[in-house]
Amino acid sequence: MKALISIHDVMPNTMTEVAEILEICFSLRIKRVTLLVVPGLDWQQEQVDQLRQWEKSDCELAAHGWVHRCSSKKSLWHHIHSLILSRNVAEHLSLKPDDITELMNKSSNWFVENGFNQPSLYVPPAWALGKISKRALQACEYSQVETITGVIFTKYGQTKRLPLVGFEADTFTRELALRFLNGVALRIPTTKPLRISIHPYDHKLRLSEYLETVLKHCTQTLSYSDILH
Ligand SMILES: [Zn+2]
Repeated sequence: MKALISIHDVMPNTMTEVAEILEICFSLRIKRVTLLVVPGLDWQQEQVDQLRQWEKSDCELAAHGWVHRCSSKKSLWHHIHSLILSRNVAEHLSLKPDDITELMNKSSNWFVENGFNQPSLYVPPAWALGKISKRALQACEYSQVETITGVIFTKYGQTKRLPLVGFEADTFTRELALRFLNGVALRIPTTKPLRISIHPYDHKLRLSEYLETVLKHCTQTLSYSDILH
């Protein structure tokens, strides 16, 4: 099975858990992992150095929002989204289009200012992109933007739909919902790569064994830039 493996919410206070998940991946001979880094937080020098080590060891760093929580006033749609899906992290949803562009650019610049490669992938928190036009995406600094349905190749305006599985099950209800949704995604007959999205505590939560089983089925892991064709 071909897969795109990403670890979400790489933040100063999740570095230990991210390291543990990477250890699990490496022990299964999975090398190519995309780390979704939240730049606008209180990063200490040794944590930035750790990110650099991971970048050198074949992990790709991608941008994931700015602070990963909502600060502006919420719209009604945003309230509904928070309740059922995003739990107050979808920081794009109540922003105006220009503010979304600014946030995405600020996020990209952090990597460059800290001596990393400029990220080609942007993943909005909770995959919620908000009110940004295709034209604005085309002008942004990223080549790919991931949403809940797939990956947008910004320069071509093309979206590739890709199946997605997740494991962030801290309650029984979420466990049931994810088992059902993952089951559907895994049963679709396709040659497309599977997006395996991991959150920092998943290896300690209710679907930890399920996560390892899915990881063991990966025969080839890809980078997001490999999937255009
Ligand atoms: Zn996130």
